[in-house]
Amino acid sequence: KKVIFSGMQPSGVITLGNYLGALKNWTNLQDEYNCLYCIVDMHAITVRQDPATLRKNARNLLMQYIAAGLNPEKNVIYYQSHVSAHAELAWILNCYTYMGELSRMTQFKEKSSKHGENINAGLFTYPALMAADILLFQTDLVPVGADQKQHLELARDIATRFNGLYGDTFKVPEPYIGKVGARVMSLQEPTSKMSKSDEDANASIYLMDDPDAIMRKFKRAVTDSDACVRFDQETKPGISNLMSIYGAITGQTMEQIQSEFEGKGYGDFKMRVGEAVVEELRPLQARFKELSSDKTYIDSIIKKNAETANYLATKTLRKVQKKVGFPPVV
Ligand code: ATP
Ligand code: MG
Repeated sequence: KKVIFSGMQPSGVITLGNYLGALKNWTNLQDEYNCLYCIVDMHAITVRQDPATLRKNARNLLMQYIAAGLNPEKNVIYYQSHVSAHAELAWILNCYTYMGELSRMTQFKEKSSKHGENINAGLFTYPALMAADILLFQTDLVPVGADQKQHLELARDIATRFNGLYGDTFKVPEPYIGKVGARVMSLQEPTSKMSKSDEDANASIYLMDDPDAIMRKFKRAVTDSDACVRFDQETKPGISNLMSIYGAITGQTMEQIQSEFEGKGYGDFKMRVGEAVVEELRPLQARFKELSSDKTYIDSIIKKNAETANYLATKTLRKVQKKVGFPPVV
């Protein structure tokens, strides 16, 4: 079976963007592939986090993975910080990554302008850690949203470079484009992506938002003055975003959605999108509630999966250490 690796940062409460762009797709892969889904807490501290909140977000994220339908018996679901090979390989890969490459990353440019008071070295070398995450498991396919394509491309370059210097060491990973694959935009600023670290709570639908909050946020979503449900990302980014969300959930094409709302106002349309999201999230939220009350079960998942990930990661790490010339452990 081919290996799939992906992850999310516990940098906040996950959004509808994370769900439709990533998590929902992941649940369709578990039978066909060997999948690892990491909670990348080491990436999360590239931006300041409150320790207690980070811990809580990480645990909730793990339960949300399971609540969304990832079977923890079939998928390796674990915390990045529990597998030290991530940090060890990241250090090595840092030494094979150029400053110029890292400077070109749009995520760094965006986040460093937003978090101007804390532009730390980790935020800059984030892609080297992400490369390590992926390459540690000889990953074949990486399902990521469009915003992470550039980082994946760099991971491929680093792997190819390393293989060129030392002979075949890493599998060079390919992006995996999911069936749903929506790029969800902010409800308040539809030209930028929905992000769990966005400070404006009205800009994002959180997976755990109750029905009232979801309906309210869709009602307030920014649209345009044209009053016609039509897909055009250039001139109608707000409406196009709502159409993508609706399409990702109902499976309809943009043309079908357009004809469904022919002659209807934005008010009706927003209501329908809101209701579809509420229904989509209802079972997930119920399952999350159940899991929250089963501490022993969740703890056992965390322990068992960290052991598996550690075992798999160490195999690649040892190989790499040997190739670069580190003395063997005696
Ligand atoms: P942060 O704002 O802290 O970077 P984020 O919302 O961007 O958080 P990540 O943890 O960086 O979330 O990304 C997790 C996964 O979700 C990645 O695969 C990413 O491509 C995907 N993703 C993030 N935002 C969106 C979005 N708006 N639409 C679709 N996919 C997304
Ligand atoms: Mg992100």
